[in-house]
Amino acid sequence: MTTKPRILTGDRPTGPLHIGHYFGALKSRVELQDKYETFVIIADVQALTDNFLTPSNVRDNVKEVVMDNLAVGIDPQKSTIFIQSMIPEIAELTVYYSNLVSIARLERNPTTKEEFKQKEKLFKKNITYGFLGYPVSQAADITAFKAELVPVGEDQLPHIELAREIVRKFNEIYGQILVEPKAQVGNFPRVKGLDGNSKMGKSLNNAIYLSDSPEIIRQKVKMAYTDPLKIRLTDPGHPADCMVFYYHKMFTDPKDVKIVESECKAGSRGCVACKNQLADNIIKFLAPIQEKRHYYETHPEIVDKIIMEGTAKARKVAAETLRQVKEKMFLNY
Ligand code: ATP
Ligand code: MG
Repeated sequence: MTTKPRILTGDRPTGPLHIGHYFGALKSRVELQDKYETFVIIADVQALTDNFLTPSNVRDNVKEVVMDNLAVGIDPQKSTIFIQSMIPEIAELTVYYSNLVSIARLERNPTTKEEFKQKEKLFKKNITYGFLGYPVSQAADITAFKAELVPVGEDQLPHIELAREIVRKFNEIYGQILVEPKAQVGNFPRVKGLDGNSKMGKSLNNAIYLSDSPEIIRQKVKMAYTDPLKIRLTDPGHPADCMVFYYHKMFTDPKDVKIVESECKAGSRGCVACKNQLADNIIKFLAPIQEKRHYYETHPEIVDKIIMEGTAKARKVAAETLRQVKEKMFLNY
């Protein structure tokens, strides 16, 4: 039996997945599943770190996120999809790793810093131990599977760096057990939001979801941030300052993108037509994904089976890693 190198990747069940996830993470996740033994985590424990007041929201989104993964082409025959909270071994590893990370190190993490600012209403001024420490738990997610590669969006890079530090420290102190993971970002490492925000995020209300209906997509594209200096059709536009042009580059044929750009700059293209063209292309792109999703929506028992079988398989792998870790730490009573 040949053993393939492993991938650990996944999503927080905080809402359905959007086109930023697709281009930032899901596309390469699907492409890599042939070459790597892939584990897809549905990170419900991590989602609770900023949804602890609304746990039903996390629960409700678990299946949505699994269906999104299946709809874009994650194949349960090749990839293992599992629920984080059903693998208590990950929580146990988190406890052991927490001794290897200083508070100051966690406070320097630019991603948690930015997210903390966005969640001021929830945290007021006081960050919780759980939220500050979620990158440690993420290191446990990755290392429980001895993953070599972690395909992620750009915002995750500081977390992977921390995971690497934890692995080096653990191996140095206790012995060479853990595998140092590498991050891999795709061609669109940080897809911007409809509002022009530097990140499309499911908690930011600026996303086109993979499951949005054609009507919703048209509405959202209509409301997208565009060049404020282009008011009339004949005004020359600045595509670099327009989210519609930004998404054209993702969904429109490159030779048509050139036409969009030159017509916009020349003032021979109106925003309404430009938005209709983009919405048509997004709808066309999402149609086969939504068709596949519909199959799973109407066969929930298949989704449940995929999750349960995946979780059982993943748990065995994590349990073996934990056994080795505990042995090295003289905890093998
Ligand atoms: P939340 O706001 O709840 O954190 P999110 O939209 O950031 O949700 P996650 O589940 O945290 O989504 O991230 C899943 C994966 O998708 C990660 O690898 C993350 O880097 C990637 N990702 C998320 N948003 C984007 C984006 N706008 N562009 C590129 N990649 C993204
Ligand atoms: Mg996130």
